[in-house]
Amino acid sequence: MVRSECPQWKYEVGVYLLGALTPGERDQFEQHLATCVICRDDVVHLAGLPGLLARVTEAQVVGHTRAGETASDPGVADDDEE
Ligand SMILES: [Zn+2]
Repeated sequence: MVRSECPQWKYEVGVYLLGALTPGERDQFEQHLATCVICRDDVVHLAGLPGLLARVTEAQVVGHTRAGETASDPGVADDDEE
């Protein structure tokens, strides 16, 4: 059995799992899922990713924000020596 890619919703699987499809698109995709084994298989395989991504993204966003905000430049002396 050759595993092929669904030409119609190849990229929407990931977008769907991330919850980024519009309600209309999601409706269409879910209808498509009922008939497309390829997409259903992709959903099953990718289903673990969004949670993982969400965690990583959250950690990175927090890390980035903290790093950016607390980076007070020690090289710049703000004193006016006169
Ligand atoms: Zn499909």
